Amino acid sequence: MINITTPNNKGSYKQPNIFGYYGNFGGAYIPEMLHRNVEELRNKYLQIMYEEGFQKEFQNLLHDYAGRPTPLFFAERLSKQFNTNIYLKREDLNHTGAHKINNAIGQVLLAMRLGKKRIIAETGAGQHGVATATVCALKGLECIVYMGEVDMERQQPNVARMQMLGATVIPATSGSKTLKDATNEAIRDWINNPNDTHYVIGSVVGPHPYPDMVARFQSVISEEMKKQLLEKTGNELPNYVMACVGGGSNAAGAFYHFLDNLSVQLVAVEAAGCGINSGMSAATTQLGKPGVLHGSKSLVMQTEDGQVVEPHSISAGLDYPGIGPLHAHLYQSGRAKFLSATDTEALEAAFNLTKMEGIIPALESAHALAALHQMKFKSTDVTIICLSGRGDKDLSTYMKAMPIIPKGE
Ligand SMILES: *Cc1c(COP(=O)(O)O)cnc(C)c1O
Repeated sequence: MINITTPNNKGSYKQPNIFGYYGNFGGAYIPEMLHRNVEELRNKYLQIMYEEGFQKEFQNLLHDYAGRPTPLFFAERLSKQFNTNIYLKREDLNHTGAHKINNAIGQVLLAMRLGKKRIIAETGAGQHGVATATVCALKGLECIVYMGEVDMERQQPNVARMQMLGATVIPATSGSKTLKDATNEAIRDWINNPNDTHYVIGSVVGPHPYPDMVARFQSVISEEMKKQLLEKTGNELPNYVMACVGGGSNAAGAFYHFLDNLSVQLVAVEAAGCGINSGMSAATTQLGKPGVLHGSKSLVMQTEDGQVVEPHSISAGLDYPGIGPLHAHLYQSGRAKFLSATDTEALEAAFNLTKMEGIIPALESAHALAALHQMKFKSTDVTIICLSGRGDKDLSTYMKAMPIIPKGE
């Protein structure tokens, strides 16, 4: 293990310093054999991303293929319920059902400009794998997705989707056979195929420059929010922006263009699972300590001797023992407020949104909605919630939960 970076100057909320640090978190802690790939990416990503031709193709695909801009919807009945003004950013209406397609399009286009012919990815619930396989089909690229054997069992529809899209899904059979093991397999693949392969990471995690690159690709979310809110209310700044956090990519995208507007209170919502102190949780800022996970220094749920603790959340997308370094910095600096919602609270919030607005949210997004109960709103406040994905993939969980949800209203 070598550390090519050091935390000297501190970076900003929006951007890490040149070594990839947001405050005390970030960097690139990678095996020496990955050094060349990560350096190539670091040297070229900004130049490629902001080329005119790249931007044109990226924006065109976001518009015509993913379906952007996604609407900003005033949720009237939900607003009445909380005696305030709540807008939903409808990332659930993107092609493939979540915000992940924004990043998948961006990284695949970037990989092509790096001359890569082969795309690899890791996936937990399968949403990032599906988004990546989708863009690879569109571009005619080979796609290999690593997925824990246990997750393949649990998420069969997404495995089938990836296969239909032409991707090869390779089971990770070591360890707990879940996301962390799939990530290890993807890294091993990249080490063995350094020349022709790009590794598409699905959140604002991993070694620098991934967190910054993914945040920039997802920042289209807050760029649109500002324009849309200005049109609707005459003011581009809300009082609150709320989003759920697994690794933190939808939250990074939703916060990005508000980070320097200090009047906007940013609220990140983690998965408390069965309760923060239940031993079955994924509330990283509440339970984690500084440590290195998947290539960067951040807050990590770990034992006394630094072993990663298995997280738990009812929502596969939030079931991650770490958090991106950008968010670790937002937490430590106090720029964002971190709340958490339990499995049960998320289920209740999902049923509530469905009943109040006719929108079935992803279980991940339901965590952000659940945190509404912990907020103290004024009737004039304006809040935007990032509805990161749709709930179709979670229907079997919702159906099992139906009996515990109180009727009436
Ligand atoms: C993957 C996923 C998440 C969690 O990932 P982040 O990187 O934290 O955004 C949240 N919501 C949905 C719908 C997802 O698919």
